[in-house]
This record gives sequence, structure tokens and C-alpha cells, in this order.
Amino acid sequence: MKQQTLNELLKQIKEECRLTKGHTGIDRFSPAVLNAIAYVPRNLFVPQHLRHLSYENTPLPIGQGQTISQPFIVALMTELLQPCPSDTVLEIGAGSGYQAAVLSQLVNRLYTVEIVPDLAKNAAKLLNTLGIKNVEVRQGDGSMGWPEHAPYDSIIVTAAAAEIPPVLTEQLKPGGRMVIPVGYPGQTQQLLLVKKDQSGNLNGRTVLPVAFVPFVMDGASRKKAA
Ligand code: SAH
Repeated sequence: MKQQTLNELLKQIKEECRLTKGHTGIDRFSPAVLNAIAYVPRNLFVPQHLRHLSYENTPLPIGQGQTISQPFIVALMTELLQPCPSDTVLEIGAGSGYQAAVLSQLVNRLYTVEIVPDLAKNAAKLLNTLGIKNVEVRQGDGSMGWPEHAPYDSIIVTAAAAEIPPVLTEQLKPGGRMVIPVGYPGQTQQLLLVKKDQSGNLNGRTVLPVAFVPFVMDGASRKKAA
């Protein structure tokens, strides 16, 4: 089978953007977002035996039961955040580090939390190898956010929670945006865009039905949340 090229992938991402416009409200992805997708070598974030699929518009397994997101979804979530060069951003679910690498091209600083130790370690190593200096990876449970660097201009969550962890909305700046898939594993989840206005009120809308791996909570944070 012929391997798909980056240019073919970019074409598919743009086409899927057009097709989902009715749901997402996004006419076309901004050049900055498409450039970031084009710039980051997705093949390096994919396990060796799946490298031939790196530029397919599909999620892929990265081990530990986790996945690297579909490129279209990475572009969509990035676009929804409306990233600015001065932004400080929080990601929950670093996984392979691919989404972090894409966002890192568009913001000032990105803090990303990953619960699976091996994934956190590999993501940090790869981002470092690529010379990406404005991302910090921490191993831990993201349901507590990352209070030391809060508040954030935007927050991106790449695992589906049953509901939005309240700590995360607390760590969002007034005027900030959060993109998060909400729903139960195995059921249709909804990608939500949540905006916090200047008075701190939250407004959310559903963007698209999606399928993400579950947001897990370790024992300690489950007890705190109860
Ligand atoms: N952004 C990733 C997608 C990874 S899939 C990429 O580009 O590759 C979602 C990730 O969220 C998984 O690696 C999973 O281990 C992680 N995750 C799930 N629950 C979490 C939690 N409570 N805190 C931090 N990471 C979590």
C-alpha cells in the first residue's frame, strides 16, 4: 500500500474542516494552525511498527492502551483554543506529546500533565530531542490541573471525562477557553468549547461528537473530588 504523504493529510484535514463546518462553526483552519501541523513530524510520535501510517488521518495506538489523536482532531482542538503567541496553556493528557508539539509552535508556554509514567517520560524526551523548549511535561493526575502556573489563557484536555473537573475551570483565566471531550467511554462523547467571561461565568457549546480514551483519576484525587 502506498504511504500517504503530509500534503495528502493536509488536504484531508482541510476537507474534513469543510464537511464539519455545520457542527464546528469553523470555515477553515487558520494558516498558523495548518503550518504547525505541517511542521511537526508526526512519524516520530508514532510507534516504529506503525510509522507507515503516520500521515493517515486516524488515531493510532501508542502503547499502555492510549492513542495519539487523529490529526484532524488535533487541528480542530488547536483552532478552537485560538492560540496567541503570548499564551500560557495547560494540557491534560500529554500522551505521545504530539498535540503539545503542535501547540508549542503557537503559544508562549505549554504545561502538560500525563498520568502514565512511561508516556510522560517518552513525551518529555522526544520534545527535548526536537528542540522544543517551551513545553514542560509532568507525570501525574491532571484532574488537579497544575496550580503552580495557573491561571491559564487556555486549557486543552485530550481524554474524555464524565464531567469537566471543576479545578480546571478554576485554573482558567477570565476570557479564557477550554476544549474538552465529555462523556463516558464506549459511548458518544461531545467535544465541548467552554469560555469563561470577564466576570468568571462559564458558557459552553458542543462542537462535535468524538471518541477519546477515558480520563482516569487516581485514588487520591478521587477521594478529594468526593
Ligand atoms: N494529546 C495526546 C493524546 C493522548 S490520549 C497526543 O497527542 O498523543 C490521552 C492521554 O490522556 C493518555 O495518554 C492518558 O494516559 C492521559 N490521561 C488520562 N487521564 C489522565 C489524567 N487524569 N491526568 C493526566 N493524563 C491523563
